[in-house]
Amino acid sequence: MGFRYNQPAMNHKINQIENLILDMDGVLWHGETPVPGLASFFKEIKRRHMGYILATNNATETPEQYANKLDRFGIDVPAERILTSAEATAGYLRKTYPAGRSAYIVGEIGLHKAMGSQGFRILDEEIDDLLSVQADVVVVGMTRHVCYRHLAIANHLISNGATFIGTNPDVTFPSEIGRMPGAGSILAFLETASGIIPKVIGKPNGIMFREAIQRLSGSVDNTVMVGDRMNTDIAGAHSVGLRTVLLMSGIATREDLKSATIEPDWVFDDLRSFAAAFETTLPVPGNN
Ligand SMILES: [Mg+2]
Repeated sequence: MGFRYNQPAMNHKINQIENLILDMDGVLWHGETPVPGLASFFKEIKRRHMGYILATNNATETPEQYANKLDRFGIDVPAERILTSAEATAGYLRKTYPAGRSAYIVGEIGLHKAMGSQGFRILDEEIDDLLSVQADVVVVGMTRHVCYRHLAIANHLISNGATFIGTNPDVTFPSEIGRMPGAGSILAFLETASGIIPKVIGKPNGIMFREAIQRLSGSVDNTVMVGDRMNTDIAGAHSVGLRTVLLMSGIATREDLKSATIEPDWVFDDLRSFAAAFETTLPVPGNN
């Protein structure tokens, strides 16, 4: 099938795009399975000397781990081109707090490493003497090892004045057996318990997109966001003025598109049909 075309703000053709911000889950792969044409897509964007950043709300792994995953798929992507919401969160907090401030983390290795590399003093997960400890920030992301004790400590610290930060708002994420509870669900638990609303850094927050554009030395005019989720990838990119490509290979459905208040500039079935469009001139609206 063809693709829907909405008049982009700058009326650029898709083959005039210089930089891509690519979501990962549902765009590049499903779990451990690369999407069809993944390797040739990267060959093509390298051949065209296009800039790219892979930007994911997944805060559980490090950029190096994602680079290794891509390597297993036969694709060479340097870790510096991978931006996780854990890194965006730690980078944002570094700009807000001087080095050496204390952080309690509910999250996995991706978040621990990102916060540590930005100079935060990471509090012991198990804190024995809670009454004697204070934290400057409590940072919460997706973790498959969460337990009541850690949530209770986080809630105690938040209720006693620590700034409550979330890596990303996704309430679920896709898995081989269906949708699983994500960071947003853990945040909801703590928000309910503490009565305090967290500041959430990942997509759709503009912080992620601005960081990606900065790494690309790009601008909103020569960069597009490619994603599979309307409420994070497309809505967030749109809010900072980026043009957007929605791929139907992940979360978004045709029904989501019908009910959406924001429309992506381009819609393709998958990465392969997006790459094929590099060679073509976009069809005239209403003529496809
Ligand atoms: Mg995705």
